[in-house]
Amino acid sequence: MRKIKSKYIAIAFALLVLFSLCMVLCFFKWLLFFPAIIFLSAYMLVDRKYLRCPHCSGFTNLDRLSYAKTHIYHCSHCGEIIEIEG
Ligand SMILES: [Zn+2]
Repeated sequence: MRKIKSKYIAIAFALLVLFSLCMVLCFFKWLLFFPAIIFLSAYMLVDRKYLRCPHCSGFTNLDRLSYAKTHIYHCSHCGEIIEIEG
C-alpha cells in the first residue's frame, strides 16, 4: 500500500512559508512577486504529485497531513486511513 512521505509534507510547508514571505516582501520590492509565483507553483506540484490520498487521490490539506503523522486519520473523501511514512 502506498504511503505519503513526511519529507514531502516538510517540503510543502517550507515552500508555503517562502511563498508567504515573498508575498509580504512584495510590498517593498515588487520583483519578489516572481519567486513567490515559483514557490507557489512548486508547492502545487509537490502537493499534486506526493500529497494526495494514496487510495482515491483526494486532496487533504497540510494541517490534516501533519495531524495524520501522529494520529490515525481517515481520508475525508474515501474514508480510508491515510498513513504517513517517516
Ligand atoms: Zn481517499
